[in-house]
Amino acid sequence: MNLNINFNNTYSSLPEQFYERINPEHFAAPKLIVFNQKLATELNIGWQETTDQELAEIFSGNKILPGSEPLAQAYAGFQFGNLVPQLGDGRAHLLGEVAGFDIQLKGSGQTRFSRRGDGRSALGPVLREYIVSEAMHVLGVPTTRSLCAVSTGEEVYRQDGPEPGGILTRVAKSHIRVGTFQYFAFKNDLESLEALLNYTIDRHYPELAAKNKKDQALGLIDKLIELQSDLIAQWTSLGFIHGVMNTDNFSMAGITIDYGPCAFLDEFKFDKVFSSIDRHGRYSFFNQVPIAKWNIFRLAECFIPFIDENTDQAIALLEKNLGEPLEFFDFKRMKALAKKMGISDYQTSDEKLVTQFLEYLEKESLDFTLAFRELKNLYHSPSDFFPKSQEFDEFQSLWKNRVKNVDELDQINPLYIPRNHLIQKAIDEAYTGNFDFFHRLNEVLTHPFSEKTECEEFALPPKPSERVYQTFCGT
Ligand code: AMP
Ligand code: MG
Repeated sequence: MNLNINFNNTYSSLPEQFYERINPEHFAAPKLIVFNQKLATELNIGWQETTDQELAEIFSGNKILPGSEPLAQAYAGFQFGNLVPQLGDGRAHLLGEVAGFDIQLKGSGQTRFSRRGDGRSALGPVLREYIVSEAMHVLGVPTTRSLCAVSTGEEVYRQDGPEPGGILTRVAKSHIRVGTFQYFAFKNDLESLEALLNYTIDRHYPELAAKNKKDQALGLIDKLIELQSDLIAQWTSLGFIHGVMNTDNFSMAGITIDYGPCAFLDEFKFDKVFSSIDRHGRYSFFNQVPIAKWNIFRLAECFIPFIDENTDQAIALLEKNLGEPLEFFDFKRMKALAKKMGISDYQTSDEKLVTQFLEYLEKESLDFTLAFRELKNLYHSPSDFFPKSQEFDEFQSLWKNRVKNVDELDQINPLYIPRNHLIQKAIDEAYTGNFDFFHRLNEVLTHPFSEKTECEEFALPPKPSERVYQTFCGT
């Protein structure tokens, strides 16, 4: 019995310069690893009558369902600050939209945007994205989601030799990026730029539809500032480092997109970097705020033609308009961290206390997640978790005087997050053909805030032998 998906194809009704129409490649022996029944049901996908093998054929792209119009999207971007006029989906196929959400295969073969890439994905990054994106969703972070993961039965060649291939089915509010606007802006294709602006507003920000072009452009920038500043505050409060905040990975819908070399902090460090390719720390933990602002400016540049025919005046207006809203990024990040300390009515004067705590964590190399989780205990009784020092005593007394809602903290500070070594263990075991730990980890991450005695190992930081020092794009 076929899977029942009611596809809509709004992106494919955009002009042809927005994409390449292309089907996924054929894969030798796809096998189902996981199908997210809950998400499928939310999307109104009738899956109950479909066998695992049929799901594997569909979500490897071997079988194209009726109504699907596969395409690879065009986009550009600044990668590590360098302009790349054409990137695009080099290994992804949008199958269509369901209930307003994109259904996209990732790792499904070459397209005209593949450049030198093989169009494929190794299984490791597929499992990583599945675990992390679903965990982020449970933690309340706007994100792409994962509907399905399959192995392809083929090998892909990466830096350490052959690895099993995999394909992820990604679900997103959309895959429009700042880089999608840049693609047309770099070409000076104003007609397409305007079509994209209209499409983005229709799809995500219909409240801007009635405005003139200039106000639509300014309004869209404001919306993005609002959503992205919330998003990055949430990342910060979980110790999440995205790892590649290039403009092509910066969503116009304000969601987390592209889980490549992402990672969660174990011990706290302001400028922590995991990604092997981030040599200068451009995308380090605390640099995510300045980089997000930088990305917003890159979007604003695309809109110059809509703002004023005089470029200098347009830039002056944008700079004036953006200055104040961009401060939200810093404010919301601090507010989110303060909330984790039980300060629910954050004032800018609290920044000192928050920073004092973080500096102490850094100095003592304490685990970020567990340190915040321990604050509730610290409030009620002495805690062995925190090494004693003069700084600590000083912090403790200031904090105890300031804290408000300490008893709510177990709902704010998770105990179980997708720690790097847990993800690595799930991948290592999967590479031997055993998916038990992968499934178990996904299950534990469905209740990040509720402690369960049988889940103790999932709350612990890595042992020295388990520590992950670097993460890779896996591309
Ligand atoms: P990412 O680092 O995954 O955001 O990808 C950056 C760009 O490289 C995008 O245009 C991807 O489609 C492309 N890309 C990444 N990996 C591959 C691959 N294995 N084959 C073809 N294109 C790829
Ligand atoms: Mg990307």
